[in-house]
Amino acid sequence: MSSNLVKSESVGEPWQWSKKQWGPIVHKVRAGRSLKPTGWKDGASVAVALSFDSDHETSTLRWGESSPGKLSQGQYGGRVAIPRIRKLLSKYDIRATFFVPAVVAEIHPDEQRELASEGNEIGMHGWIHELNSKLTAENERDLMMRARDTLEGISGQRPVGLRTPSWDFSASTLTICREMGLLYDSSLMGDDEPYELLEDGEPTGVVELPVEWIRDDAVYFNMDRFSALRPYTAPSSVLEIFMAEFDGAVEERGLFLLTMHPHLIGHRSRIRILEELIQYMRSHTGVWFATHAEIAAYCKENT
Ligand SMILES: [Zn+2]
Repeated sequence: MSSNLVKSESVGEPWQWSKKQWGPIVHKVRAGRSLKPTGWKDGASVAVALSFDSDHETSTLRWGESSPGKLSQGQYGGRVAIPRIRKLLSKYDIRATFFVPAVVAEIHPDEQRELASEGNEIGMHGWIHELNSKLTAENERDLMMRARDTLEGISGQRPVGLRTPSWDFSASTLTICREMGLLYDSSLMGDDEPYELLEDGEPTGVVELPVEWIRDDAVYFNMDRFSALRPYTAPSSVLEIFMAEFDGAVEERGLFLLTMHPHLIGHRSRIRILEELIQYMRSHTGVWFATHAEIAAYCKENT
């Protein structure tokens, strides 16, 4: 299979590599200067970015599978979970970012229109949740362009940010982001705070809003019936971890970015921890809840 992986450019075994071989790999995509502002909007002490990766049916389709049982889990995301999430966001007057594969937007166009009309951000999340890091450069570029146009056509909002479906970059992803003039990416993990992405050592102007598996509900809640690994964690334990991550962000006057998946967090036993977390964060003063695009723009203008 042709591949766009960074490491495919190197030959020999890793222990035989010279600096000339591992150097370019390390520096292909790298965290550059910090974009953590000295203060957040209106004097807030912490910025909170809630994101929902609306994978829905593409969790199944991405693997070329057609199981109605698995697809129904995805349908639950749009049918039950998104309305619950919208209700919660509206109750606490919070805007969030929804990263949406283009195919999900085509299956659920009204969902994207309603979310956008309520002030939420619609960001890119692949075409069909494909593993972008395994595509050829041409394929990846074509899919990213088409995904942006599709999301814009449906939601009326032109996406300015990307979360790659595989939480990874190919050797071309950042080049394509720059060509598209994207404001930010939110797929990498080089820091707790926003930073500027470097490509081959060169500043790109693209803001990275870093994710982490610790701050991702899928790590704790996802289940594969055919796998021996079933990382199932009690919602109360997940809440404890998320609250501790928020507390740390408050102490460091930084960013708290949380990734959730509607079909995972939207269940009755779990949506309540999101409400408890929001109530906990709301009990603090100086918390700026904003979309990823708002935070990225703010960081770029204030550093
Ligand atoms: Zn996803």
